[in-house]
Amino acid sequence: MYAQGRTTPGHIVTNARAGLSMHNYGLAVDAVPYMSGDGGALNWTPNTPQYQAFVAAMKAQGLIWGGDWVSIPDEDHFQMPGLAVTPTSAMQADYGDGGPAALAAIWTKATPGAYA
Ligand SMILES: [Zn+2]
Repeated sequence: MYAQGRTTPGHIVTNARAGLSMHNYGLAVDAVPYMSGDGGALNWTPNTPQYQAFVAAMKAQGLIWGGDWVSIPDEDHFQMPGLAVTPTSAMQADYGDGGPAALAAIWTKATPGAYA
């Protein structure tokens, strides 16, 4: 994904190199609310009541919202709680080849506090 828009065709979609995003570990998701009644458009505007209701619902599930980050807010980013903001060296070491077994091992450890 990091190469997209840099060395391969397409728009730049991430500033994180491989292994440096919680997305690489299956512990984060980018999501925005769907605007019913508006032709199926997505709402990319965080300061709208609908978007804030969506954020509140995601937070009610315990997810961390990237819009709360001060240095580089990431309003469509949600990730599992109890983790460092970015992958720790322990997570990167456990990542290995990034295959299903490695991810399963990380998810087992990714209970709140395991990689804090
Ligand atoms: Zn994200």
